[in-house]
Amino acid sequence: MSLNVSCAIPNCTNPVVGQCAGYKGSCGRFYCAAHSTDRLCADCARRKSEDEIAQRTYEDYLHTAEQLRRELGSAFLPIFIGAVVVSVMLGLAISQSNFGVGLTVMCAGMIAVGIWGSDRTAKQEKVRLEEISKTKPAFPEFYKTWKKEKNKEALMTGLAIAGVIVAGAIAAAASDSREKRVSEIEEGVRRAMR
Ligand SMILES: [Zn+2]
Ligand SMILES: [Zn+2]
Repeated sequence: MSLNVSCAIPNCTNPVVGQCAGYKGSCGRFYCAAHSTDRLCADCARRKSEDEIAQRTYEDYLHTAEQLRRELGSAFLPIFIGAVVVSVMLGLAISQSNFGVGLTVMCAGMIAVGIWGSDRTAKQEKVRLEEISKTKPAFPEFYKTWKKEKNKEALMTGLAIAGVIVAGAIAAAASDSREKRVSEIEEGVRRAMR
């Protein structure tokens, strides 16, 4: 009986030094010293490092999103509260002589402050997103999704579609339709997260 024991890399003739322990599932392929990392064959080692990169990238983007939200919140909140207090005080003072006018001033003041505050925040957000996108190109899109939902799978899929992370062993040919590629990426992300 002859066992066909050779490195899993095609045409590699190096002596076999071990059998792959498998990454997220069994593998059992043999490997040589050159085509292995930590008891994993080249293919499994690649999938493992891709998952690690994906995880790190996701955490980095997530951390940046949380930081940006805090930054935007704390920048305008004191001014915002101050302006609301001023319009309420003014409204109350006027209402001593004319209740209707006082109430109108109070409401108009608060509405104006609300519009001004959200406009300032939106402008600041835009500026910061542009800055961040210089180092993290897919961040604006990620942030938009993150504000709506905190689902890790959806966020990672978004990053994978943007090409920021390689989710699993996705080798979609250029001719593939976008829908097919997206569903493959989603499958890859699900696999990576198990
Ligand atoms: Zn080899
Ligand atoms: Zn393997």
